[in-house]
Amino acid sequence: MKTISYLLTLLLAIGSHLAKAQNASVEATAEKILETYAGYKETSIRDRRFKHEEIVPLIERLQGKPGFEVSVVGQSVEKRNIYLVRIGNGPTPVLLWSQMHGDEPTATMAIMDLFNFFADAGGPLDDWRQLLMKDLSLYFIPMLNPDGAERFQRRNALDIDLNRDAVRQQTPEAQILKRVRDSLQAVWGFNLHDQSRYYSVGRSGMTASFSFLAPAYNFEKDVNPVRERSMQLIVELDQLIEQYIPGQVARYDDEFEPRAFGDNMQKWGTSTILIESGAYPGDPEKQQLRRYHYLLLLSAFEAIRSESFAQQNKDDYFLIPENKRLLHDLILREASWERDGHRYRIDLAFRQKEKLYNGARLVYREGQLVDMGDLSTFTGFQELDASDMLVQSGKLYPRVFFDLKELQRETDFKKLLQDGYTDVRLQRLPPNEIAAELPLRLHPANTKEVSNEIKLYTNPSLLLIKGDEVQYAIVNGKLYEVNQ
Ligand SMILES: [Zn+2]
Repeated sequence: MKTISYLLTLLLAIGSHLAKAQNASVEATAEKILETYAGYKETSIRDRRFKHEEIVPLIERLQGKPGFEVSVVGQSVEKRNIYLVRIGNGPTPVLLWSQMHGDEPTATMAIMDLFNFFADAGGPLDDWRQLLMKDLSLYFIPMLNPDGAERFQRRNALDIDLNRDAVRQQTPEAQILKRVRDSLQAVWGFNLHDQSRYYSVGRSGMTASFSFLAPAYNFEKDVNPVRERSMQLIVELDQLIEQYIPGQVARYDDEFEPRAFGDNMQKWGTSTILIESGAYPGDPEKQQLRRYHYLLLLSAFEAIRSESFAQQNKDDYFLIPENKRLLHDLILREASWERDGHRYRIDLAFRQKEKLYNGARLVYREGQLVDMGDLSTFTGFQELDASDMLVQSGKLYPRVFFDLKELQRETDFKKLLQDGYTDVRLQRLPPNEIAAELPLRLHPANTKEVSNEIKLYTNPSLLLIKGDEVQYAIVNGKLYEVNQ
């Protein structure tokens, strides 16, 4: 008995040593992946609203590169080609699809960078590149929903959510994904999405830059070997990425969704991991996240190739904090608010809504008051302690100006705000994207009055007052310091 237990201890020790060694190799590789990234970044894609026509040449030029196979596997509702790119010739088929939601493009950007990496035969990390291509067959469907990307919207051209069409199979895009999975009998699946910037890592107040999910395959959320492998791989990826963005990684809700692809992939026997790209502070176009996504995918390939994921404990998956929707863009804390002779102490939360223009290629932002009351369980990307201030509605300036030029020439914006004027009328209004950036709200010349009442789901211009002086103005959901 003693010998057996000693042997067991020894085996366990070797096992954990091996796991460490293999993790170390993934980590060392990670450093090199990031060091060489700049050389592979696809520079023609610079923001999130690129279109199908911009990625087609990037895919077409891969045709004929060693180890690549490019094919058209079908067309979207509006007849845009959907591509399957195969890299490598190994025994383990891995399927990745991105942007099944048209406005969730971070992974597509990372995949374009990955294509450049794999196409650079003889470049840096070549030994490792060849290993990946020998052990794995990587199949990419970049931008599964090109019609949605065209409009930068979630759903496809029929306004159907592809991720609720895994079973009914009515859309051509969902049919393509199912057909490709079945034909490959993919062992691994990567379901690549973007999530709202308002997701936080548990109650920490930190933004969830990435969220992982090993989808459930039944309502009971059972764990079978297929799902267990997804969990183990996620544990390994979480450990890695936490070193670069500590505290910014969460676990997505694993409620079973019988119509979704991730859940069904798992059911069909493909170990599936969902990666949601969230927000990264100061990175609205997600270029930092794109770089970390590239790192995540290459590291995942290494973990699958070397089987280092198998050393991970699936139970550690549940230690990753859950995604919670507890963020706002701006929170004003504990302002005094007078109404009907009462004085209330309230928090006010604003969010910025993206408004698309120029054929959904550009974006400006519009503020909205989204919550009020006790918001102590929420965190703002920006917060202000207003506990010694009174919140009031901003006023409409009496004079009507001709245009923005005249307004700029004849007034001092700061002086207007100090006098409590947040709203101004113009005969000739500038485009919305310009108006949205101003510390004053602009209205047509015939506007009679502006209420700026503190009312949910509106965009009121507000003042924060201490003593008799305006300290701050909130215009279009943005905070401006006035008394400075
Ligand atoms: Zn999505």
